[in-house]
Amino acid sequence: MKKVLALLMAVLMIASVAVLSGCGSNSNASADKKTDATAAANETADKTYVIYSDNAFAPFEYLDTEKNEYVGVDMDIMAAIAEDQGIKYEMHNEGFDASMGAVQSGQADAMIAGMTITDERKETFDFSEPYFEDGQVIVAKPGTKLEDLKGKTVAAKTSTIGGEYAESIKDQYGFTINYYEGSENMYQAVLTGADVACVEDFSVIGYAIKTGEVALEILSEEPANVKGYGFATQKGKNVELIEKFNAGLKNIKDSGKYKEILAKYGY
Ligand code: GLN
Repeated sequence: MKKVLALLMAVLMIASVAVLSGCGSNSNASADKKTDATAAANETADKTYVIYSDNAFAPFEYLDTEKNEYVGVDMDIMAAIAEDQGIKYEMHNEGFDASMGAVQSGQADAMIAGMTITDERKETFDFSEPYFEDGQVIVAKPGTKLEDLKGKTVAAKTSTIGGEYAESIKDQYGFTINYYEGSENMYQAVLTGADVACVEDFSVIGYAIKTGEVALEILSEEPANVKGYGFATQKGKNVELIEKFNAGLKNIKDSGKYKEILAKYGY
């Protein structure tokens, strides 16, 4: 009798894994009704990961006001990888600093937010393979020169590499830094004249300028500190999620889906 039961359990588990791995990415996927035993056995496979992201960082994540949903390169890459790997998740677009905090406190399992992979961050985060490359530029109203930064304030975004870059050049150019939570607040501060310039990732400000979103100009000759963007988890936690992300990234690169996503946003 015991043997029969064990066999039955094994069959149930296999069946349930098969169902789960075929599952879509949608966070609202209906709850699978399983016995406690199988649920426990499939804890990882069944888990709905909480993933945080930025909320105004086009073309990586931004609100499509017509659809009333967050779209962008990161959103599409996450959805494609989740579909490929059978990852269930719910996305929270709360801002960059909030995402960093949520992952560090364990409130979120991971983040995907145009996040630059750095050695310093590697001390507290695990990163996927890089899926994009970018660096930072100084941006101001058209006609502004780098000399004009002297004695003024420059806008930077809290917890970003752009902020670190601003700190590293502030003495050279003689400016002080004002920090903002979101990229949009930063651009606004420059447009209204509250700050003379801001520091932003090249592709993000490039996209905002190209789409006519902001009438600003890039002062830097080329992006500084060009590095990869990575999907990140708290160090040592959710290692299986990083592995799945990497496997999925490889698959969507091989299938052409990754290229298709970038092309959709003008790359
Ligand atoms: N790439 C920058 C960083 O990692 C900015 C990210 C962001 O603002 N979403 O710090």
